[in-house]
Amino acid sequence: KRFSMDLKDYIESIPGFPKEGIIFRDVTPILQNASAMRYCVDQLNDFVKSVGADVVIGPEARGFLFGVPVALENNVGFVPVRKPGKLPRETVSETYDLEYGQDELCVHADAILPGQKVVIIDDLLATGGTVEAIIKMVERMQASVTGVAFVIELDDLKGREKFKDIPVCALTHFE
Ligand code: IMP
Repeated sequence: KRFSMDLKDYIESIPGFPKEGIIFRDVTPILQNASAMRYCVDQLNDFVKSVGADVVIGPEARGFLFGVPVALENNVGFVPVRKPGKLPRETVSETYDLEYGQDELCVHADAILPGQKVVIIDDLLATGGTVEAIIKMVERMQASVTGVAFVIELDDLKGREKFKDIPVCALTHFE
């Protein structure tokens, strides 16, 4: 059942998107290929099992695409992290710095319970700002992040240095 594959065959690189000087790494070919998707879910699932999770959490939109199937494989729930104004009930929120300006992320206040083990899943780790904001929200809800997992890590941005004490999993790497 298990097989190995070069995930990079299923990641498109688009220079100049969404702006000049950036190479966008596009995971939609993974989603379009059941074997590539199965490979990602199995690998992410192994990591989640190894660190332990009561719940998986992931940011919109691409964090949902990988977080939901991995949560289901683990028999745990999934909690969506969203931009302001999208979640209908009481939220906990956190602002974080972007290259220019700030952004904000929100989660339902009752979605994470005190003492729960939480694993964060997203498609890609860049500066780590997104994950750092999610860690702060989880910790404010008195739960703990036992691991963070990505399909892609951009190594040169050194995002993982923002959360040195937490195990990090990345299935493939670019500069
Ligand atoms: P960070 O907060 O700087 O680590 O940026 C990570 C967030 O931006 C993730 O939610 C990614 O989905 C998104 N992101 C940044 N660069 C890329 C890219 O090249 N491809 C896909 N998503 C990206």
